[in-house]
Amino acid sequence: MTDNPKDMSCEEFQERLPELIGSGAAAASHPHVQKCELCRAFLAELEAIAAAARELFPIEEPSDRVWEQIQSAILEEEGKPSAK
Ligand SMILES: [Zn+2]
Repeated sequence: MTDNPKDMSCEEFQERLPELIGSGAAAASHPHVQKCELCRAFLAELEAIAAAARELFPIEEPSDRVWEQIQSAILEEEGKPSAK
C-alpha cells in the first residue's frame, strides 16, 4: 500500500472523492485527476450534481425557519390518516 496520491488507482481515488470535496479541497488539482482522463470526467459529473444540489438546497440560508418547515411538512405527512 502506498500513500503516494499519484499511484492511487481510479477506484481508490473515487472512493476518496466525496471526502476530498467535503473537506473543501480542490479535487480538480489532485495528482490523479491531472493524469487520469477517466477520473476528470467522473469529477466533472460529480461537481455538476453537487452544483444542482446546491441550487435545490441552498446552504447559504440554513435558517431554523426553513428547517422547521421541513420538519412540520414531514410530521404532517406522517400524521396523515392512511387509507389502509
Ligand atoms: Zn482515475
